[in-house]
Amino acid sequence: MVSNKPRGVSILGSTGSIGCNALDLIERLEGLESGRFRVVALTAASNADRLIEQVKRHRPLLACIARESLARQVRDGVAGTTTRVVAGAEGLLEAATLEEADLVLAGIVGAAGLPPTYAAVESGKTVALANKEALVLAGDLMISAARRSGATLLPVDSEHNALHQCLRGESVDEVRRLVLTASGGPFLRRPELDLSRATPEEALAHPTWVMGRKISIDSATLMNKALEVIEARWLYGLPAEKISVIIHPQSIIHSMVEFVDGSFVAQLGATDMRHPIQYALTWPRRCETPLEPLDLAALKGMTFQEPDLDRFPCLSFGWRALRQGGTMPAALNAANEVAVEAFLAGRIPFTEIARIIDHVMETHRPAEASSLDVILQADAWARETAAGWAARSSTPATSAAPVAPVAHDGPKHTGR
Ligand code: NAD
Ligand code: MG
Repeated sequence: MVSNKPRGVSILGSTGSIGCNALDLIERLEGLESGRFRVVALTAASNADRLIEQVKRHRPLLACIARESLARQVRDGVAGTTTRVVAGAEGLLEAATLEEADLVLAGIVGAAGLPPTYAAVESGKTVALANKEALVLAGDLMISAARRSGATLLPVDSEHNALHQCLRGESVDEVRRLVLTASGGPFLRRPELDLSRATPEEALAHPTWVMGRKISIDSATLMNKALEVIEARWLYGLPAEKISVIIHPQSIIHSMVEFVDGSFVAQLGATDMRHPIQYALTWPRRCETPLEPLDLAALKGMTFQEPDLDRFPCLSFGWRALRQGGTMPAALNAANEVAVEAFLAGRIPFTEIARIIDHVMETHRPAEASSLDVILQADAWARETAAGWAARSSTPATSAAPVAPVAHDGPKHTGR
């Protein structure tokens, strides 16, 4: 840490997997040495009970929840604290730009995270970025805004966080390629499985990471890696052809950089998102961690293989969207969000996710991504088009019941 003043942290999406992990970590870091962090704002979409619990525990200045009716519930629940409870998009923007926030953790899932994340960047905050979709939609605008405002973007996504670490003190001109590792998701080890019959439960069962539902399905289709290719392009300013993906089922190497001289630099760590969150929270310093370190001797080995693009066509969409440029990544992302929701609700088979996105990309005529408005228009168009396709798709061939929506916004545990 550069100063002795506690670092004010605003957590957007505090009730989700990333948000809960961050709060757990902050508590543990404060347990090692108090006075380093102060939680100044927390935001949630709908889980009022969890937000109330978090406010009582962390006493932020501000808490925001999506709807006014929920905000009333939160106000009642936190009566006696000094936390100001606000609602809606305005409240979210306030949490993202609060004066007392030195660091904003962007942990909202999906395109919904773009406006507040962009606002945090425009106001010159240090932004710990988990919400990869914000960069997928508006990478160029976000990077330009950061240049103008002096904001620092610190990737929390484990692969990009690994690349950030591999590139410390290096020149991007000397990079031959970035190598993003992918676990391969729950279906890698089940080549016999007819993916058109894969159920939401099977797709949600990630072998190495415990995460929110949307990113878990993205990991099963490998769309998550496609989004990460786009994320890497903007974070590191390298063209699509210098970004590659390799399957590494153990998720021990979080990513690597190949330099022009043939050297590879890799970052290794336990599969616990609190590690990359800690890196972002304490950057530019490294601090003692309260977390379990990686036990190298317990590893059975590390393996690598090429991704199977026939089985997981979504992976190729990242490079395709980058080649087409403009609003195409926004269309890709929106179509994916709609298709994933439809799959989780039991309305379409797993394999239809890729088909819907492919169709939307085929039909989209990308415009220059010159403003948030243009991007959000493409997002809205793609959502409508994808929803039309999802409605026309057949229901899954399996007899699996749809997964009921969860009562909370993310898993209860801390992601070990
Ligand atoms: P999650 O579903 O567990 O949590 C999402 C959070 O965002 C919740 O607090 C929810 O209330 C909030 N939210 C959702 N929709 C909202 C809306 N419309 N308006 C305001 N708030 C809203 O998701 P997650 O797994 O924590 O993922 C968050 C982001 O981090 C995603 O972009 C994901 O790709 C990225 N990420 C997550 C992990 C992980 O381990 N979970 C790893 C890498 C990257
Ligand atoms: Mg990742």
